[in-house]
Amino acid sequence: MRLIDTHCHLDEDAFSHDRADVVAAAVDRGVTRMLTIGTTAESSRAAVEIAEQFPAVFAVVGIQPNYTAEAKPDDWPVIEKLANHPRVVAVGETGLDRYWDYAPIEIQQDYFDRHLELSRRLGKPFVVHCREAEADVVAQLKAHATDGLLAGVMHSFCGDQATAEACLEMGMHISFAGMVTYKKSDELRAVAAMVPSDRILVETDAPYLAPVPNRGKRNEPGWVRHTAECLADVRGVTPEEFAAQTTENAVRLFALQQFE
Ligand SMILES: [Zn+2]
Repeated sequence: MRLIDTHCHLDEDAFSHDRADVVAAAVDRGVTRMLTIGTTAESSRAAVEIAEQFPAVFAVVGIQPNYTAEAKPDDWPVIEKLANHPRVVAVGETGLDRYWDYAPIEIQQDYFDRHLELSRRLGKPFVVHCREAEADVVAQLKAHATDGLLAGVMHSFCGDQATAEACLEMGMHISFAGMVTYKKSDELRAVAAMVPSDRILVETDAPYLAPVPNRGKRNEPGWVRHTAECLADVRGVTPEEFAAQTTENAVRLFALQQFE
């Protein structure tokens, strides 16, 4: 069974002492490819370095909504430059976050626009972070979807069915993280059950949100299997079928076949 962890943060301090072991353990468990996501200019630079170091790791570069207010004027040109790197397979994470009050929404929206424009210019997809801002995210995505479908993913999806449907209609992929394995997540599991099989992805968001049975521990890419098994069960397919389908989706969306 082969899986791709489409969203993790290997540059974080939580991995500074054993990053190589974590990547090797994931590969051992069949997680043969993982995408490490930048959240600031500095973290995006680190993500690219990690992707250069490990053949199994690819980078995504961007300024996460909660870090947009503290971004310096020179940071965006850094992202634009890094985005051209051959091992950078997408732009982000970007989006809107109304849960934390770290950045005024206008600044978040400005950076969201910049990421969407950069994604289009480079022909690389984008990764969306959305927290308690579903209607605003959908509206902003719609404004960019005027001349066709969008190539992007709603990462660690935790919205409702209507939001998922609006995103799917624009061509978006939906990715689920460990939260879907939690006992209280019945509504989220119902959403996961209805996402078309050619649009669903799986991720860890490591080091955060470890799936059951490792909830509360430092999360790592090798554990994406637990979330995949839960999703397969919810969707009434075998874990092998689910792994093959989500791997095919991730390879297609992030153009990973070019590295084979
Ligand atoms: Zn993330």
